[in-house]
Amino acid sequence: MSLSIANMTICEAIALLEGKQCTSVELVSVLLNEIRRIDGTLGAYLSVDENDAVSQAMAADKARSEGRKGRLLGIPLAVKDVLNVRGQPCTCASKILQGYIAPYDATAVAMLRREGAVLVGRTNMDEFAMGSSTENSGFKITKNPRNIAYVPGGSSGGSAAAVAGGEAIAALGTDTGGSIRQPAAFCGCVGLKPTYGRISRYGLTAFASSLDQIGPITKNVKDAAVLLGVMAGRDEMDSTSVDVPVPDYLTSLSGDLKGMKLGLPKEYFVKGMDPEVEAAVRTAVEVCGGLGAEVVEVSLPHTDYAISTYYIIATAEASANLARFDGVRYGFRAAGAEDPIDMYGKTRAAGFGAEVKRRIILGTYVLSSGYYDAYYLSAQKVRTLIKRDFENVFMQCDALLTPVSPTVPYKIGETSSDPLRMYLGDIFTVTANLAGICGLSVPCGMSSQGLPIGLQVLGPAFREENILRAGHAYESARGLIRYGE
Ligand code: GLN
Repeated sequence: MSLSIANMTICEAIALLEGKQCTSVELVSVLLNEIRRIDGTLGAYLSVDENDAVSQAMAADKARSEGRKGRLLGIPLAVKDVLNVRGQPCTCASKILQGYIAPYDATAVAMLRREGAVLVGRTNMDEFAMGSSTENSGFKITKNPRNIAYVPGGSSGGSAAAVAGGEAIAALGTDTGGSIRQPAAFCGCVGLKPTYGRISRYGLTAFASSLDQIGPITKNVKDAAVLLGVMAGRDEMDSTSVDVPVPDYLTSLSGDLKGMKLGLPKEYFVKGMDPEVEAAVRTAVEVCGGLGAEVVEVSLPHTDYAISTYYIIATAEASANLARFDGVRYGFRAAGAEDPIDMYGKTRAAGFGAEVKRRIILGTYVLSSGYYDAYYLSAQKVRTLIKRDFENVFMQCDALLTPVSPTVPYKIGETSSDPLRMYLGDIFTVTANLAGICGLSVPCGMSSQGLPIGLQVLGPAFREENILRAGHAYESARGLIRYGE
């Protein structure tokens, strides 16, 4: 049998393994071949330890032959380079962490391992997850597999490109302001940002601790439900993880939307957004109506303030979180320093890229004593208003339908010199992080250039089953979207 990773889902791979039609070693070998063949062009991975991957797969095959069970037994997965995977590099795509090897597993990674997953490699990203195009990586640029002249989105662009390009069955990403949902949309994958507190952040290198969440990037909604089910739950190593029972997400995938009320926030269909995005999302809304959902218009009045609020809070938290990278404990240390203070300065000047420095400076500024009230405190207050907007609309409906990004994927180099323009592209995704709710990105069409467009489904906190149900029903009705033809 010839195996192709390009279209294979987790559920299909499990069926093959259970039916003894292939082994985990075979799956991993096919995957490694693909990586060798195309990753020189796509640049999705930062590191792959082939020998380690094969030995993990051999262990999984042995476990299966001994009758051991595991929800992901023998399934190869890719992990964004911001999560600690014991024994593997974890650079956050930053030169400052070059040479750092993770001494332990992040809780989410440990939970995948406990179910038998094979962790194949570390995917590229914007440095410390700051960006929307993966052009801010300290090491290389990842290309969009649908058309390599275009960005894959970011910051989890390596994970999305690996999944879309047939270099991974599924992958983990992280989302602080859209970094799972937007690259999933740009590459034509499914991306899930769980509720804040649904998955432990222990072992995730913090960017903005009150916004960060780990989640899956997959080929379909069912796979996202499977991975969420494995990783969700309270962890005593992360005091912000919440002790809410983890439902069986697969049972929520009913295939219809009968009895569901879906809201269309009018502020998410704005002047200036790409007409192709608007048309694709409106068509998807009609499909959802046809599946039995009641569609109502709703309002999230504070949406206009979301970008400024996000870029104050995220940079403030980042400036504190990144203070630990000073050349003393981790990774890179600049040579030729005269004293410790000189060493910190030289290390940080050489180790961090331009976007990371820009954010540390911005974040330090908004927290400084003269400006704290004017910026940071005001942003915290507006964050509460944004959260209340969502609480109000979720009293009227079960989920919201919106675009993921106001634009289709852009060309590599097109926005990299204009950070503000890049920030504005986050308008529809940052709100979910500010409010702490969950969001899903599902492919809903493509541009005239043949590049994917994403539909966003937003749900109330700890109601991932709502958005998975809506996304799955839509995905099943939508039919296949073919890329690159
Ligand atoms: N694009 C946003 C930013 O640059 C979101 C990044 C993320 O979610 N990690 O901050």
